[in-house]
Amino acid sequence: MKTELITLAGDVPGNSIELRVLRFAGKDEKAVTAYLQSSLHGSELPGQAALHFLVPMLEKAESEGRIAGDITVVPQANPVGSAQWLAHQHLGRFEYFSNVNFNRSFPLLESFDASGLAAIDGPKALAERLKAQLLRLALPHEIVLDLHCDDESESYLYIHKAFLPEMYDLASALGSTAILSWDSTADAAFEEACTHPVLQLPEAERNAKRRAVTTVEFRGLNDVGVDTGTSDAEGLYRFLVHRGVIIDTDIDLKVEFNGPVTPLENVEMIRAPQGGMVLFHVDIGAEVEAGAKLVTVVTTPGDPNGDITLTAPQAGRILTRRSHRYTRRGDDLLKLLGSKRSDNARPGSLEA
Ligand SMILES: [Zn+2]
Repeated sequence: MKTELITLAGDVPGNSIELRVLRFAGKDEKAVTAYLQSSLHGSELPGQAALHFLVPMLEKAESEGRIAGDITVVPQANPVGSAQWLAHQHLGRFEYFSNVNFNRSFPLLESFDASGLAAIDGPKALAERLKAQLLRLALPHEIVLDLHCDDESESYLYIHKAFLPEMYDLASALGSTAILSWDSTADAAFEEACTHPVLQLPEAERNAKRRAVTTVEFRGLNDVGVDTGTSDAEGLYRFLVHRGVIIDTDIDLKVEFNGPVTPLENVEMIRAPQGGMVLFHVDIGAEVEAGAKLVTVVTTPGDPNGDITLTAPQAGRILTRRSHRYTRRGDDLLKLLGSKRSDNARPGSLEA
C-alpha cells in the first residue's frame, strides 16, 4: 500500500487541508479497478468504519499477491466538512461558506478527460478544488463506491438505471435491503459526476458488466461499530473479489438480491407540515398499508388538538427515519418506498 498525502491550500493564508489517499497497485492491467471513499458528509462514519476494517484485508491480499486491479481508498474524503463544528455540534452536510451541500454541484464532464477540472491550486474556493480533486482520483476507476449513511436507516444503494441489473451483485454482497434507481439527475452528486461520462458513451461501449457507480447508504448515522464495520468491510471485499479486483478463491458470492428496486419518483418523502415534536408510529423496515399512521407532529405540547398525524400515501416499506425528534416545517421525516409514482415526486435528488 502506498499512502499519498495531497495538500490543498485553504482560501486564506495559514490554512490547508490534507487528503489521505491509499493506493494498492494491481498486477493485472486488464482487471477491473476500484475507487472507494467515505465521509463526504463529514460525520457519516459507517463507511469510514467499513474502510478502516477493509484496508487491512487489502494489505493482506497485497502481501499475498492477490490484488488484480488498482484500488484507491480515501477514508476521509472531506477534511473541510470533518472540521465544521459549531457550538459543540458537528455540521458536515453543507459547506459553511457557500451553504452548498458537499455532495451536490460536482462538475459533470462530457468525457473522462479531467484536464478541464479546477486545478488543485487554481483560483477557486477550496470546496470546489476538493470536489475536482476527488473526481480526478475517482474517474480512472470502473468501480466507484461513495460510502454515505442516512439518519436512521436500512442499508440501501442509489444506482443509475444504466447499471442495473448488473449491480445486483453489490446489493447481494453488502446485504442491502433496497435499491433506489434513478435516471434523470441527482443534482450533480458525486455519483452522478462519476456516472455522467459513462452515459455519454454509446451503450455498447459502456461496459456495464465491469462498471459499478453508486452511493452506498450504510444504514444510519449511529450505526458505527466493530460488528457493522467488520461485516460491511467483508461485504465490500466480497464484491471486489466477485468483480475480479481481488483474487480470493475462498469467496463465492451468490447474487440473490430480491429487495425492492424503487425509482426515485416512487419514494414518498414524508415532510413535516409544521414544526414541533416528532412521534414516530413506525420503525425502519416496517411494511405498511396505505393510510397507516406513520408519524405525529406535536405542534402544541399539552394540547392533543395540535397534533398532526401523517399517514401512508400508499402501501410500502419504511426505508429511513430522521434521527432528530424536533422538526421544522417542511423537514423530511421519513422515506417510504412505494410501488407507484408519488403525487409529490419532483425532479432531482430526494433531499436538500
Ligand atoms: Zn451523505
